[in-house]
Amino acid sequence: MHWSDEVAKKLISLHPDKEEFVLAAGTSPSGTVHIGNFRDAVTVYFVAKALRSQGKKTVLLLSWDDYDRFRKVPKNLPEDKIKEYENYIGLPYSAVPDPFGCHASYAEHYEKEYEESLKKIGLEFDIIRYQSKEYMSGRYKDGIITALKNRKEIYDIMQEFKTQEYSAEERENFYPLSIYCDKCGKDTTKITELSSDCNVVGYSCKCGNVSTVNISEQGNSKLPWKVDWPMRWTYEGVDFEPGGKDHASPQGSYQVSRIIAKKIYNIYEPLFQGYEFIGIKGLTGKMSGSSGLNINLEELLKIYPPEIIWWIYAKKTPNEAFDISLGDDVPRIYGEFDRVYENYYKNDESLDEITKSTLDIILDGSPKKVNPPFSILLTLYSISNGKIDMIEEMFTKIGMSFKAEELKERLDKVAYWLQKYAPNMLMKLNTSPDFEYFETLDDEVKGWVKAFCDLIKIKMDSEELTTQLYAIPKKESADNKENKKNQLLFFKTMYRLLIGEDKGPMLSTLILAVGSENILPIVEPLVAGNTNN
Ligand SMILES: [Zn+2]
Ligand SMILES: [Zn+2]
Repeated sequence: MHWSDEVAKKLISLHPDKEEFVLAAGTSPSGTVHIGNFRDAVTVYFVAKALRSQGKKTVLLLSWDDYDRFRKVPKNLPEDKIKEYENYIGLPYSAVPDPFGCHASYAEHYEKEYEESLKKIGLEFDIIRYQSKEYMSGRYKDGIITALKNRKEIYDIMQEFKTQEYSAEERENFYPLSIYCDKCGKDTTKITELSSDCNVVGYSCKCGNVSTVNISEQGNSKLPWKVDWPMRWTYEGVDFEPGGKDHASPQGSYQVSRIIAKKIYNIYEPLFQGYEFIGIKGLTGKMSGSSGLNINLEELLKIYPPEIIWWIYAKKTPNEAFDISLGDDVPRIYGEFDRVYENYYKNDESLDEITKSTLDIILDGSPKKVNPPFSILLTLYSISNGKIDMIEEMFTKIGMSFKAEELKERLDKVAYWLQKYAPNMLMKLNTSPDFEYFETLDDEVKGWVKAFCDLIKIKMDSEELTTQLYAIPKKESADNKENKKNQLLFFKTMYRLLIGEDKGPMLSTLILAVGSENILPIVEPLVAGNTNN
């Protein structure tokens, strides 16, 4: 059973009579929403699919925590902005200007960026809530007043999770509320009094302002996270919500929030699913976590098509941490996916049950796509300088046929990936014979090169050519080990002579795609010179 089916089953057993389930994902627009945060949406998405396949209805809710305070200036802001943005610390994200100047606020910039990429991958939320709007509209006024009325009980609940000692004085002055100053807009405020009906709050601000908030009429206050979270569960009727694993720890916010939900708001907590972190494999040089450069879904979609991204996420249970590869592994990931994809549509029995159910969820009855092999595309892209008509023609030469529109999606990804993440994989055919290297070879190897030239003058298909290439350095008298060694040496020699590298794409693919008429001029003069001597 896929992990999402297990969660769905658990939800149904918790609420057997429920027809419609509310599944909530939540994200902070504190910067680019990276691919680790995307796991939140993915978890909700797969559980919703599982619930629907079991006959239930679902409501997918995305909540933006954009009324949280702007805590620190991210490292990846333009350099000339860093000083300026230090002045905005303490404002809600929704009130900080967009550093790139294209949206109404800092929050909106990152919200729209993420929402756009969700659209591209085909994940649509039924409801999107911007917490700044919800708070400012006064929607939560009763929830806030309830928290203020029960402030001492909330203190006691939080105290149970803390190591520091209980203090009667601290309890007396505990207000689970932060106020954005009505003069400077920041939360550098301190509550000084509270009316007996808990509706009017007096405060003073670091900026010198002394003022009051009328909770029923003004929206410039916000509950702290551990109270805000359960308060919102009551407003939205949330049944399921995933979160980073740190929330689920014994001291984590989920444990505190669920007790507040029960004792203060009289509701049951939603089912929680913690998930592990996601790392990036293949980031080198200045692209690292410490530089503040995050990989987001938008970037991932430039390297992988949606179905492969879903597959990468879905095959891991939420409790498994994993790395997403952007480096040399990318062709292998494509290859792995293509193999299971083909087997899936062939109804191959070798496909294990989990892989099959994972693909059931991802592909969801969609018709089979034509997937030109990524590793071959890579070779053909390189040697053709990315010219699509040439690539189409070369595919025909190696016995595969794809239309230009079938090549387009993966070709764009090959081009982007090669240029940004794997320029070392971009290969070029040598333009002239490499006499210098050839002279370092011993006579036996030179003989193989001669045999190579003779072989590629004969027309044959890819499979036959591969067999014949392996046969060139093979000797009847030699054992397996020696033959293997010689084959390796032969291929290495040919790669050096053809593309100036020790390794390369499948040799038969290269020969057929480029055409022997283009290969002979860079190898034949070598052996011609050799026999003349
Ligand atoms: Zn913007
Ligand atoms: Zn102020």
